[in-house]
Amino acid sequence: MMKKILIGAAALLTMANMNANEDKNFNYKVDRFADIEVLAYEVPGFKDLTPQQRKLVYYLTEAAQWGRDILWYQNCEANMPLRQELEKVYTNYSGDRNSQEFKAFEKYMKQVWFGNGIHHHYSMDKFVPEFSSEFLSAEFAKNGVDDDVAAYLLDVVFNPEAYPKRVNQADGVDLITTSACNFYAPGITQEEVENFYAQMKDTTDLTPISYGLNSRIVRDANGNLHESKFKVGGECSKHIERIIENLQKALPYAENDAQKKTIELLIDYYKTGDLKTFDDYSIVWAEDTNSQVDFINGFIESYGDPLGMKGSWESIVNYKNIPASQRTETVSNNAQWFEDHSPVDPRFRKAKVKGVSAKVINAAILAGDAYPATPIGINLPNSNWIRAQHGSKSVTIENITEAYDMASHGNGFNEEFVIDEPTRKLLEDYLFITDNLHTDLHECLGHASGQLLPGVDPDALKAHGSTLEEARADLFALYYLADPKLLELGLLDNPEAYKAEYYKYILNGLMTQLMRIEPGKDIEEAHMRNRKLISEWAYEKGKPDNVIEYVTIDGKTYIKINDYEKLRQLFGQLLGEIQRIKSEGDYEAGRQLVETYAVKVDPKLHQEVLDRYAKLDIAPYKGFVNPVYKPQFDANGELIDVEITYGEDYPTQMLRLSKEYSF
Ligand code: ZN
Repeated sequence: MMKKILIGAAALLTMANMNANEDKNFNYKVDRFADIEVLAYEVPGFKDLTPQQRKLVYYLTEAAQWGRDILWYQNCEANMPLRQELEKVYTNYSGDRNSQEFKAFEKYMKQVWFGNGIHHHYSMDKFVPEFSSEFLSAEFAKNGVDDDVAAYLLDVVFNPEAYPKRVNQADGVDLITTSACNFYAPGITQEEVENFYAQMKDTTDLTPISYGLNSRIVRDANGNLHESKFKVGGECSKHIERIIENLQKALPYAENDAQKKTIELLIDYYKTGDLKTFDDYSIVWAEDTNSQVDFINGFIESYGDPLGMKGSWESIVNYKNIPASQRTETVSNNAQWFEDHSPVDPRFRKAKVKGVSAKVINAAILAGDAYPATPIGINLPNSNWIRAQHGSKSVTIENITEAYDMASHGNGFNEEFVIDEPTRKLLEDYLFITDNLHTDLHECLGHASGQLLPGVDPDALKAHGSTLEEARADLFALYYLADPKLLELGLLDNPEAYKAEYYKYILNGLMTQLMRIEPGKDIEEAHMRNRKLISEWAYEKGKPDNVIEYVTIDGKTYIKINDYEKLRQLFGQLLGEIQRIKSEGDYEAGRQLVETYAVKVDPKLHQEVLDRYAKLDIAPYKGFVNPVYKPQFDANGELIDVEITYGEDYPTQMLRLSKEYSF
């Protein structure tokens, strides 16, 4: 599970905390095109790791880079052949690189790089080129592209009906034949896949493997479906061999036996494709909380599959930020206190909360599905029984939130949308810390809190399950942000601090997140629905006491919060109700909440937000280039040390990855 950042929120973060920031002149802003801004992030403290740790990080980052093409291939079958030819055109173009046509081509190239293929990473829609097919056709010819290949690729780029959507979630159609993702070979239907897995699954197994996670479904000569696994000798074998090679090089530098075992099991899993081994690996990984350097590498999240089974390849290499982790350790160590005092019916509380290990990390590399767009928090493994029996790791990626924060400084957002100077000052002073604390509380405690009544189906809330689950975790965090306990624990130093996060949350939920929605459309994405649900509900229920108010100044709408204490009570009340819905599996009540508060948009307010945003020219989506690691070898080819460098621009990095980590 990943916590996705909403730029409305991120853009609002203003500087409050400089301690992670090493270089005052660090250049965070790298590139800007279409609806995207590309940033750089710093890796503070890399130089303070031991040489052994730096070597470990280095080989893990190499293993991370080698998986890039796997994701491109998973996202759509057209991606790899297209990238190869587009990059030739981009590199070899001999005409005027400032011409309108080439500029349009360059924008498309940058979008394709960012989407890890021809589809937008968030909306899943295919990119629309703004250059002519004649231009591309002529450039293909100059680069000696075979006629059949050129015809196919031109169709991929210009025919709106070819691969229109990567992941289709629309009701009432075959989700597999209408999705362009490459987890299912052409011609395979949703019904066939569902039958295939219904036969394979053992529903009595209390420790089931993650069925289908690391494979494509293909049809054999007899017309029967079978799984073609991503493993040595299977799908993407050559890339997986290079991943294994670098994991093996990392092994001697493992920090302890548990980490060594984790790497060995991962290698074994890549060799065999055995999902039972993946579970063994996940358990050892989840239980290793002592290593400072850590990583994920594999087929992890399933948002890229319309049926939610197949894992997209990704990797993040990171290490613990020890001072900042004291914050999450404090939260985690007091998990039982928070559970016992939560404003929900005692029957729905957990008698014993299994500690969610939580830490603050700095990312050293982002790869695959976590690059260039990346989550700011991760909570893994995803397997429910492993989480229940062996715990899970929850992390906040602080150098990434820091980069968002730094890049948003001075973008004019606060001046445009925040009601007055005292509120802006409050956000400046306390939003960075309360926003990070919100993420900690959401990930370490929120998702882990509460219990189902005996016999309640965990999937009872069906399509509304993820929205309500995110709302539950957010409400838990919001409620406790205002608790004096946080001052007592030394996590905050001002009883007013929580108001910064409350203001931002309501402003975002009621107004500013709408900038991501096209005019006339409903809110669909689960995290966005959750924020709308909470904010809209609190607005409605607070009306008798005028808790939240829309105020118009000079024709512009602003949010004013009149009673923060009452707002906290409302958050507690809604948490109680959503926990009841989850614990009892009350589908109808859950559906009512979502349909009433989370979906519909006021068109007039929506248009106003879009207009005000457009003037600010803030990119709705952001992502990152990675730093570059330079290994130093001795005369015998032995790695001595690793140096980190910054400053590589976006196209250079993309072209380098295609050259160095591809075949
Ligand atoms: Zn969450």
